Amino acid sequence: MNKNYCIIGTGVAAVNAAKAIRDLDQESSILLIGAETSLPYNRIKLSKELFSDLGSEKVLIKKEKWYQTQNIQTLLHTKIEHIDSDNHTLHTSTGETIQYDKLLICTGAKNRKLLIDGADKKGVFTIREMHEAEDFKVFIEDKTSIVNIGGGIQGLETAWSIFKAGKKVTIVEAAPRLMARQLDDKTSALLKNKIEEAGVDVHVNTSIKQIMDGDEVEGIVLGDQTISCDSVIYSIGVVPNIDLTENTPIHTGKGIIVNERMETNIKDVYAAGDVIELNGEVEGLWGPAMDQGKVAGKNMVSVAESYQKTTPFTVFNAFNLSLFSIGFIDESRCDTTIIEEDGAEKYTRVFIKDNKMVGVISLGDMLASIPYKTAIESGVSLDGINLNDSSIKDLMSEVKGRLTTPA
Ligand SMILES: Cc1cc2nc3c(=O)[nH]c(=O)nc-3n(C[C@H](O)[C@H](O)[C@H](O)COP(=O)(O)OP(=O)(O)OC[C@H]3O[C@@H](n4cnc5c(N)ncnc54)[C@H](O)[C@@H]3O)c2cc1C
Repeated sequence: MNKNYCIIGTGVAAVNAAKAIRDLDQESSILLIGAETSLPYNRIKLSKELFSDLGSEKVLIKKEKWYQTQNIQTLLHTKIEHIDSDNHTLHTSTGETIQYDKLLICTGAKNRKLLIDGADKKGVFTIREMHEAEDFKVFIEDKTSIVNIGGGIQGLETAWSIFKAGKKVTIVEAAPRLMARQLDDKTSALLKNKIEEAGVDVHVNTSIKQIMDGDEVEGIVLGDQTISCDSVIYSIGVVPNIDLTENTPIHTGKGIIVNERMETNIKDVYAAGDVIELNGEVEGLWGPAMDQGKVAGKNMVSVAESYQKTTPFTVFNAFNLSLFSIGFIDESRCDTTIIEEDGAEKYTRVFIKDNKMVGVISLGDMLASIPYKTAIESGVSLDGINLNDSSIKDLMSEVKGRLTTPA
């Protein structure tokens, strides 16, 4: 029997769900409803490629033709205001009512708000959606000096884009180090040096107190000093977009609570992507959102599949530094680590827990990451290897041998 599949949101989770549904069911109708005006696009490019042509087709996840050939309808620039799960209907901002048989909520996340004096001033920006990136670019066109708050990967990539556009940039991070989720003290300090060498001021362990008064941004107050600037951009974390579940029986915590099959507590209502909370965790990352979308789509068509969390994998290429971070890198919860370095720009650290390799941080390009990723994901046992007296090269060669030799 033909069904009406409705998906709220037009991000990567939504597109992958729609594709999974269509691959399994060629007859039913699929409708993607999104508040933004663009077809689903690669949101990551809003920081990495901020000054490129964001309106270009290259930024889209799938070109317009794909939706036509797949017979997937899109309703853009339309916000869903309410879900009536008893009657299987959605109510749009334009007053329409849409009936669904199976519903997927992929409303993503919004950027955490900066809650300090002056944060609502003209010239203060945060980028989550395309129009925010475009507004920021227009605003800073004739400006020279920008403060970038947030030393996570998204903040640093934004800072790098602004710096490459010829602006003076100052980075402010409240935590003691940059990219604290992906790097150890050593690599974080090295990254900070590289950024400073490029001519960017970096303040860590310091919170911004205030954005200075005036009609527009004039500067910021940081501890006991002031820094003048023309604009402030911030990226200080995300919060799942769960507003739509208010006045519905859908269970939420930090996000919409789902099981491994992306089912909510309400029959025929699923959720995937940055909006979900699974096993108490909100992942908020591109790869997981994509995988969760696929899993949701399959389950909506009654093909049982469970979401498997993948190994976190971050690649960073900016400020003349390439590095990668894979897996679990919390040294306080590991049994041991092996470090190889040359005191300059060569540094690799392998993290070991329960006799398995669980994480790696390394300065180097992405290609070098592949054997480490394989070793971590295989969960191969390091039993019998003297970890106190092994170089990373020896360890990797032993792991490779164990992976190719059948047990
Ligand atoms: C600048 C930037 C850089 C990033 N860099 C990285 C990175 O390097 N690596 C990484 O892993 N992740 C990165 N991310 C995070 C990544 O983009 C997200 O994890 C991913 O986009 C989540 O996809 P999603 O489909 O769940 O939701 P989203 O992409 O957030 O899409 C949700 C969509 O739903 C729409 N919506 C919300 N409410 C409604 C409603 N009521 N009605 C209709 N539509 C609605 C929103 O407008 C939005 O278009 C970055 C994010 C940003 C903003």
